[in-house]
Amino acid sequence: MTVIDRILAVFDEHGRGAHFGENVTETEHALQCAHMAATAGADDALVAAALLHDVGHLLHGLPEDIAERGTDGRHEVGGAAWLAGSFGPAVVAPVRLHVAAKRYLCAVEPAYHGAMSAASQRSLLLQGGPMSPAEMRLFVAEPWFRSPAGLKAGLWSPTELAVDPRQVIAALPAWLAKTHGVEFAFGTPVLGFDGSTVTTPDGGVPVKRLVICTGADFRDLAPAAFAASGLYPCKLQMMRSQAFGDRFRVGTHSAAGLTLRHYASFKTCPTLPALARRLDAEMPEYGRYGIHVLVSQNAAGELTLGDTHEYGDAITPFDNPRLDDLVLDYLKTFLAVPDPRVAERWHGVYVRHPTAAYVAARPAENTLAVTGVGGAGMTLSFGLAEKTISDFLGEAP
Ligand SMILES: Cc1cc2nc3c(=O)[nH]c(=O)nc-3n(C[C@H](O)[C@H](O)[C@H](O)COP(=O)(O)OP(=O)(O)OC[C@H]3O[C@@H](n4cnc5c(N)ncnc54)[C@H](O)[C@@H]3O)c2cc1C
Repeated sequence: MTVIDRILAVFDEHGRGAHFGENVTETEHALQCAHMAATAGADDALVAAALLHDVGHLLHGLPEDIAERGTDGRHEVGGAAWLAGSFGPAVVAPVRLHVAAKRYLCAVEPAYHGAMSAASQRSLLLQGGPMSPAEMRLFVAEPWFRSPAGLKAGLWSPTELAVDPRQVIAALPAWLAKTHGVEFAFGTPVLGFDGSTVTTPDGGVPVKRLVICTGADFRDLAPAAFAASGLYPCKLQMMRSQAFGDRFRVGTHSAAGLTLRHYASFKTCPTLPALARRLDAEMPEYGRYGIHVLVSQNAAGELTLGDTHEYGDAITPFDNPRLDDLVLDYLKTFLAVPDPRVAERWHGVYVRHPTAAYVAARPAENTLAVTGVGGAGMTLSFGLAEKTISDFLGEAP
């Protein structure tokens, strides 16, 4: 007897009974759920899980009014165990978790509870009621967690653009050389400068004007100019997923609620203080490490995932795996990535100013030093470079 035969036999024998106080039979309920999953675009495994999620009810042989008698048949556990002999975790885990998902939904979405049938509300109480915040944190960390609440609302920008820095940085020097005649001296550290010469290990290079952009290394070449600037370093931990190719396309760059707190552009939102208070109460670690989650996907289908923020003296050379876990846990609350295996991890440091978008100084005659562009430096750089150079040369941009 194949597994399909066994499933059909179980539904044939027990599926005609009423579905635990509802106006549909067990079989009708199973087919409705599978149909809704298919209509919502779920993959085959999830459609199968939807079809079979209550199979435990058909197996345990308890009467259909057990909830009224105050008994929880733990049908999700029995059903998952029965299926585990024939199906993989993509089918078994959603079956095992579907009661937990209902308890989670009732906690995050009070309106959902109100929309449930009286029978389902009764069984919810026997199943433990809506989840507590502690239970929710554990549930969200489940490897199979997909936000059952789904995406509720979003902002979408038609002008959003992402570039793969590895691609751009590889191509940009050749373009600059060809288009603007820029000469590069890669691998040449600058050791010092005065108004007319740049010193390198290979000797002095005469200059008429000099622009210094040493990023986070600003203290090395022009320490006095930036001594009282208020600039401070910021370390970010980042991750990249496996390359999904065309098997999984996110379709857009994504971010969620934590990002609203991260960028100053959202400061005008009137409800932001209330959101920040709630996040601080429910997810204090996220605030402490400046974690918000941005997801972007490149042509190979790799997801770049970030980011965390550690500032000033708190920065060490060692990465904190807990921060990566927090990013991955939060990702799960708004994006269902089929197998978010991390292929690469790295960290970077940029330098920023508490209030200014960048900091410029004049450390010597004919010399301009610019740094402190912070976390938006790549985005700002083209416009900023044009403006600062034009100002420096005394020309209109
Ligand atoms: C992990 C991470 C993610 C980021 N994501 C984004 C993002 O999504 N969008 C965005 O807009 N920005 C992002 N940023 C910020 C952005 O990368 C920085 O703001 C930007 O690179 C700063 O540009 P810069 O030219 O001032 O400094 P840098 O890019 O740091 O360049 C300075 C260069 O000077 C060189 N240098 C220093 N001293 C010397 C010396 N003595 N001699 C010779 N060379 C020297 C350094 O080696 C370095 O190559 C991110 C930063 C990090 C770390």
